[in-house]
Amino acid sequence: MKRTLVIIKPHAVQRGLVGEFLTRFERMGLKIAAIQVVNEQPEFWERFYPSDEHWYENAGRKTLENCRQNDIDVQERLGTTDPAAIGRMVMRWLVDHMSSGDSIAVVLEGNEALRKVRAACGATLPNTATPGTIRFDYSTDSPTLANDEKRPVYNLIHASDPDESRNGQSAVEYDIGMFFPHR
Ligand code: ATP
Ligand code: MG
Repeated sequence: MKRTLVIIKPHAVQRGLVGEFLTRFERMGLKIAAIQVVNEQPEFWERFYPSDEHWYENAGRKTLENCRQNDIDVQERLGTTDPAAIGRMVMRWLVDHMSSGDSIAVVLEGNEALRKVRAACGATLPNTATPGTIRFDYSTDSPTLANDEKRPVYNLIHASDPDESRNGQSAVEYDIGMFFPHR
């Protein structure tokens, strides 16, 4: 619980939000334990994200549900109604975006860092995030707009998930190991 990894994503770096985000985390009392500009190939991001059937199905189902709520013809827009196929498409968009330019990987340290940082980032989708969170305060994006433009939802930041595990270790240790193998 004492450390976590965040990635300030390429579109947030492009918008010049790095300083503001770091300031927010520092104001919360967290310390920057490691920081690095990252520019990696798609293969790296495929290893970083949990590219498995379970993730595809889940992401696809969430996208289908959003389309249903907004009266969007999924077949017409995405060319399929198969959740796993849609999930694969979302992962492709995400991996392409993450490898499109510089992002910033940061290890943040402090009491309850993992929980505090997740709370500060807010819900995955900026359109459902709570005011005061980074994803609400700095974005108006939504899956409807993102799917229309065939790109991932621009939610500015990744924060390690306290409830996820990867290859027999916690997601946060896996995430940190990908950028800072000696920490
Ligand atoms: P993160 O780990 O970045 O905080 P998350 O765990 O909250 O994200 P996931 O569901 O794992 O969210 O999705 C990973 C990323 O894929 C999201 O951060 C977002 O950029 C993108 N994404 C998620 N769902 C969709 C969708 N329906 N359409 C487009 N992009 C999406
Ligand atoms: Mg996640």
